[in-house]
Amino acid sequence: MRHKKRKRRSSRVLFVLISLFVISLFMLKGPLMKSVEARQYIDPNEIKLSKVLPNFEAIRVWGANVIELKEIPLASRLLGRNYGVYVNNHLTKEFSNYNKALEFALGHEDSSIKKKTDNVVLWNNYRRYVLMEGNFYINSFEEVSSTIEYGKEHRMSYIIDQEENKLVWSNFDRQIEFTDETSQGDLFLINPQYPVSSEFIPNNMVNLANHINSYIRVSRNDMEIDEVAFNSITSMLKDAYYDGADQMVVISTYRSYQRQTTLFNNRVNFLLASMGADEARREAATSVAIPGSSEHQIGLGVDFSTLRSMGVSQDFGDTVEGKWLNNNSWKYGFVIRYTEEKMDITGIIDEPWHLRYVGVPHAELMNKLNLCLEEYLEYIKNNLEEEFVDHNEDSYKMYYFDSIYSDELLEFLYNNDNIARISGDGMGGIIITTNY
Ligand SMILES: [Zn+2]
Repeated sequence: MRHKKRKRRSSRVLFVLISLFVISLFMLKGPLMKSVEARQYIDPNEIKLSKVLPNFEAIRVWGANVIELKEIPLASRLLGRNYGVYVNNHLTKEFSNYNKALEFALGHEDSSIKKKTDNVVLWNNYRRYVLMEGNFYINSFEEVSSTIEYGKEHRMSYIIDQEENKLVWSNFDRQIEFTDETSQGDLFLINPQYPVSSEFIPNNMVNLANHINSYIRVSRNDMEIDEVAFNSITSMLKDAYYDGADQMVVISTYRSYQRQTTLFNNRVNFLLASMGADEARREAATSVAIPGSSEHQIGLGVDFSTLRSMGVSQDFGDTVEGKWLNNNSWKYGFVIRYTEEKMDITGIIDEPWHLRYVGVPHAELMNKLNLCLEEYLEYIKNNLEEEFVDHNEDSYKMYYFDSIYSDELLEFLYNNDNIARISGDGMGGIIITTNY
């Protein structure tokens, strides 16, 4: 009798405890939601909120944009194993962690992952092109074009071709379609040894001439520039202007292969008056890039001058504007690409007017280490994973992979959600910059 009573009492205690637990879960939900909303505005650069707020599957934040926030349904949080892996349409194994499920599914042909709460297929390996966002599967398609269409809506996404097992596209700071040459992205090297084809035209350019104001001055109506470089150059010109370097003029940005050919031939013809043909070509190449090797053809090279003396001149380096660029352009992702000191490596004379966009934090690190782009790309290969803390106290690491087919690259992509940028190096390699 007494025994029975105790049993009843303990089950009642258990019932109360469970009720309290469930009630407290519901009560927790309100304040957590609020804190997420607040954080979206307070600190948009904070990436890993999912760790702070365990009932949210992912929050992917970049720049000022909140990309996506998925709350894990209460039911699935309580049930735990929410992801079912199906092999040949049979439920084979269940997981509480999506990435564990993905890892298992990737090892099985004809597998798919279903969310058990609503039976939605989250991933399958039947279709060739897989779109990932951070380390989360988004969708897969048979055609690369439809995958890209879908990927455009997802910043920080990339596409893996499962048939050829390679990286084909990414959408971090810009949309990039990768080729084997990897001549894409902020960091890619272009020089006479690694030229681009005559057909190379950069995607997504902006005409600087459509944005002129007191500090954005251009010498022509046609001033196309890479869209990412455009965002940086506008803030750079503004800061220069208010810092007293107020006579700056942009005199050259994107240049087609044909235009570069004309400029090069004009230079050769001029020199032919005083030297032989071979010598004239060699000499011309030190000041006018050989067609296919100009940074102007890739939309990342910019020439500057001043209102006082329009045109390119070595004297530019001694002007207020030239000095300002020399001291400050790295903060905006630009480097002075050709200096006298590096002529042995670049083959190009001192050009204080020619800046190349390489992005943040690379420009700062190149400036700090006094490396030209050729040297810097070598440096990254030899100093993998070395942490770099920039002047804003943001921490970065750079990773090098030797091709878009690299298994290590694909594994790295699947396992990282703090990738900030993917760029080719123009020599077949890929450089990933992480920010944390
Ligand atoms: Zn130039």
